[in-house]
Amino acid sequence: MSIEVHLEHIVKAFDTTVAVNDVSLEIREGELFFLLGPSGCGKSTFLRIVAGFYQPDVGDLRFGDRVINNLPPHKRNTGMVFQNYALWPHMTVFENVEYGLTLRKIDKGTRKKKVTEVLEVVRMPEYADRPVNKLSGGQQQRIALARALVVEPDVLLLDEPLSNLDAQLRLEMRQEIKRIHSQAGTTSIYVTHDQQEALSLADRMAVMKDGKIIQVGSPREVYRFPTNAFVASFIGETNFIRGTIQSQSNGAAEIWTEIGTLRSTTVYHKFTDGEDVICSIRPESIHIEESAPAEAPNQLRAKVLSVTYLGRIEEYQLALGNQLAVKAILYNPGTQGKNIDDILNLWISAEDVIPLPASVPDDEDR
Ligand code: ATP
Repeated sequence: MSIEVHLEHIVKAFDTTVAVNDVSLEIREGELFFLLGPSGCGKSTFLRIVAGFYQPDVGDLRFGDRVINNLPPHKRNTGMVFQNYALWPHMTVFENVEYGLTLRKIDKGTRKKKVTEVLEVVRMPEYADRPVNKLSGGQQQRIALARALVVEPDVLLLDEPLSNLDAQLRLEMRQEIKRIHSQAGTTSIYVTHDQQEALSLADRMAVMKDGKIIQVGSPREVYRFPTNAFVASFIGETNFIRGTIQSQSNGAAEIWTEIGTLRSTTVYHKFTDGEDVICSIRPESIHIEESAPAEAPNQLRAKVLSVTYLGRIEEYQLALGNQLAVKAILYNPGTQGKNIDDILNLWISAEDVIPLPASVPDDEDR
């Protein structure tokens, strides 16, 4: 069974550190929900509150309709997957996965059936009799997932589950987690500071900073419509160009900047004319190859400051105007690419210029 998780004005402090600061969230039944943020922002504390290892100082935690603030961890029917797998090294794969069922006093025949089924789900049935310390990191993480899923938890909690794996294995396991989640359909909360993991897997994600939730949305919403400059730079890479709103109409604006007037057709904050803003422009939205379409907005000239060839792409630091440096990306750079000191003509689609508030209030939650 799978369940909705509600957090209502949850606060958790340690001495003077407010690790989770008035967090309200609704995690939908069956969704793979990501909590993302820099180190120390409160992600693990959040997860521990949901698991029951910490009690909130203020606020309510509900699973479905039931307030469970004081319910001990073993009565919450959650499954947990940790960064370090936390398997029992002296036990076999089968015994590790079976353990939670034994604790729940499930009979032997049912235990065997359920362990066999879940080992099929994680594609490890032939490893049942092997001691877990004779498995690779990726295999151990599959067993950790199997162990969490076998008890059919209402909520699955994953705390940086892939961060001990090497880059290639991490990519493979991402797809595995997606597949296993869609097969099991368990409401899952996944904590990470890896934005690629979140973008590639999440149904929805919350970005957290200093104990607060700054934005909640689908990966595409958060990437395309960041609520402020922190989210824009934390989720993906971006360039910031400071400016002042000159004029606006129907979700479009002319913005005066030190490199000239930029046109944006993606204005989703409420600004007044004359207000200072920060324009976020992603490196991939700076067009440096194609000739600009007729009447293309935001045509600029730039000088190449540095070139980094990465095979699939080439990255450039470009000087715009007198001193502003921005990053741009050329896909499929071929045999030529660009060279330092080349002068380029650029253009940026008006929908890719995103004006954001220049100043963010202390509480960050506008
Ligand atoms: P990381 O990504 O580095 O694991 P995090 O986002 O999970 O970080 P938390 O571990 O939740 O962050 O910590 C949030 C804040 O609360 C930090 O400032 C941390 O130092 C503090 N904190 C966490 N646990 C405790 C504790 N048991 N006692 C005192 N302070 C704590």
